[in-house]
Amino acid sequence: MMVASALEERILIVAPRGRDARLIATTLSEDGLSPAICVDTNALVERLEEGAAAVMIAEEALSVEGLEAITRFLDSQPPWSDIPIVVLTHSGRASLASMRRARELEVLGNITFLERPARPDTVRSSMRAALRARLRQYEMRHRQEVLVRVNADLERFAYSASHDLQEPIRNVAIYSEILTMRYGSLLDQAGLEFLGNVRAGAVRMQMLVHDLLTYTQAASLADEDPEPSDASAVLDTALQNLEASVPDGGLITRDSLPTIRMGAVHLQQLFQNLIGNAIKYRNEAPLRVHVGVERIGDLWRFSVADNGIGIASEYKHQIFGIFKRLHTQQKYPGTGIGLAICQRIAERYGGKIWVESEIEKGSRFIFTVPV
Ligand code: ADP
Repeated sequence: MMVASALEERILIVAPRGRDARLIATTLSEDGLSPAICVDTNALVERLEEGAAAVMIAEEALSVEGLEAITRFLDSQPPWSDIPIVVLTHSGRASLASMRRARELEVLGNITFLERPARPDTVRSSMRAALRARLRQYEMRHRQEVLVRVNADLERFAYSASHDLQEPIRNVAIYSEILTMRYGSLLDQAGLEFLGNVRAGAVRMQMLVHDLLTYTQAASLADEDPEPSDASAVLDTALQNLEASVPDGGLITRDSLPTIRMGAVHLQQLFQNLIGNAIKYRNEAPLRVHVGVERIGDLWRFSVADNGIGIASEYKHQIFGIFKRLHTQQKYPGTGIGLAICQRIAERYGGKIWVESEIEKGSRFIFTVPV
């Protein structure tokens, strides 16, 4: 398994006195490592851009500007990367000034101090340790890349499978209907019943495939930088779509809602699924739903609370899985994808979704969106 290129295995050395740098480089090459000398911190940053396993730098080579340039580079690195930096310090007792300097240098992150004069053995072993740490990071990157690729493949597969299944299923539904209308009189009771089952099965499959398609599209459509949505206006639209299913005497209330950084289509899907569920899983008491919001730190925390049948705590996580349902079709129809879609949308925007509930006492679904 190739996880690092030759450039990425280099150890970059910066020492203002050429002799020091050459000495370190020789020590490292003797040990089979691949050192490369940089004349100053500018050259270092340039080479870091091409890839490196670790840096060994003499303290006196680190000017304020040099430190800033390296920190800027490190800040621009992906999360898997934490490049090991070994700083060669001056020998002698630790003074207050050198302790302060050590604290200043901590912005470099993964840093080790090596006191001079350092024995060749110590230089070698510290760089070997740094290299091992870096190779582990490359492995992590490799695993992440594989995961992203596999995920994208799965996504494409789920999309095309659900998309391509639509037509044959539609044909089964249509032809079983035509059969019933045109040839129904030729069939006995059992034959009619069987045909009815074929049609019911096809209609159910149509619903499942339709929802699966919505699920695969839910996250992939999200923009990197979505147009802000007025949550109150989006809730109005969601409620208009749900109007017919709100029972007499039902009441849906709301806090004053903010404008948030989420595509309107996605926010509407969240509201519609959660409020639709609150309506569907109601009990005998008159329906009460409240859409609330509060700001906690840098998150908006939205909630949809109902006074319905509630959810037993052992199913609190399971219900967010695809096709996961707690009831029969007869009692409460559905495909079990609504909450999976909600979870996908919330996570796609950097938020979370969860439920707090007690059986027979109602449920409170909470989702967060970064401010
Ligand atoms: P569906 O409603 O199609 O079954 P969902 O993914 O929307 O699919 O919900 C999954 C399951 O979670 C539901 O079958 C139901 O058992 C439970 N559930 C969701 N919302 C509520 C709610 N507001 N109150 C009680 N149970 C709920």
